[in-house]
Amino acid sequence: MSRQEPLVWIVENVGSGPGSRETLVCAQLLGSDPRLARLDEDRLGPYSPGVFAKALGALIASGSRERKSRSTVVLLPHTYQVAEFAPRLALLLGAAYIPSISGVHRDGEGGLRFRRSILQARLEAEVRPRARTIVATVQSGAFSSDETPAPPRQVVEVCLPADMEPRPEREILGREAASAGGVDLAGAERIVTAGRGVGGADQVSVAADLAAALDAELGASRPVVDNGWLPREHQVGSSGHLVAPKLYVALGVSGSIQHLMGMSGSRVIVAVNTDPEAPIFSLAHYGIVGDLHDVAPALTGLLNERAGR
Ligand SMILES: Cc1cc2nc3c(=O)[nH]c(=O)nc-3n(C[C@H](O)[C@H](O)[C@H](O)COP(=O)(O)OP(=O)(O)OC[C@H]3O[C@@H](n4cnc5c(N)ncnc54)[C@H](O)[C@@H]3O)c2cc1C
Repeated sequence: MSRQEPLVWIVENVGSGPGSRETLVCAQLLGSDPRLARLDEDRLGPYSPGVFAKALGALIASGSRERKSRSTVVLLPHTYQVAEFAPRLALLLGAAYIPSISGVHRDGEGGLRFRRSILQARLEAEVRPRARTIVATVQSGAFSSDETPAPPRQVVEVCLPADMEPRPEREILGREAASAGGVDLAGAERIVTAGRGVGGADQVSVAADLAAALDAELGASRPVVDNGWLPREHQVGSSGHLVAPKLYVALGVSGSIQHLMGMSGSRVIVAVNTDPEAPIFSLAHYGIVGDLHDVAPALTGLLNERAGR
């Protein structure tokens, strides 16, 4: 890998959800002036993994030919749709594919190193790409910055190459909004999460009241969902939503690796737990060892009083 800064492409998949900000922060860590490639169905036709990968691949390949001496890094937000077509893109480009990265740095020789979770997030792996082109998807919440990153100066709309026929290998017959019950965890600035420690369906209101007082969304750990105390769209974690709010309040959450995977990118984490040894405290910025049924209503009362409610 050369010591030269890589040529960095950020891919924005128009209409495919959050993540662009994180790819931008990640691109800036690579110290370069990234280019933005925009994938838009208005130009490319209805989404199809083959068509999107080929059109994007043609654009990236032409940029790489232009700068033969530099490596190329393509960064995409790790969304469901991206996870579908990014491996094809990597294959087309003969690139190293590194999914769901949570960190990036340069080694002493200027080579690139990427971090990603493996084995259900039990281990963190450091990956050194051996190919000159790298396709990496960026884990939601993994890269945060207090400052809003400057948008890329070069923006390129991805078009179908002249010699390519848009022949989708499958057809989407219809789309309808998933029932999220009005819950928007991915975009929330504040989240209060109910863990199993709340004690039962009839006790979840203790977390909901604090969430309302903080103007926050209500999250849930998996047992809370599995027990039917809250619907699945509230679940935070490796098999739920990946979130990165400014404030995350965990009530009666032990801090399993699967839960931490979903919220460790939160800027400020507050945990309330009766067990001083609970793993959540190793991540929390503020920890309260105590009964959530005392602490949460006290906080709610204080906030409501301050707000004159
Ligand atoms: C493949 C797989 C995927 C998974 N995906 C997810 C996922 O997406 N999200 C997720 O959350 N989990 C997930 N899990 C489950 C995960 O392993 C844990 O079981 C789960 O996160 C534990 O939830 P919890 O912290 O609410 O409950 P517990 O681990 O039971 O912790 C409850 C905590 O509440 C505390 N407590 C009890 N009473 C009180 C009180 N009155 N006041 C204050 N504290 C109290 C206890 O001390 C304890 O620390 C997954 C597991 C697997 C195997």
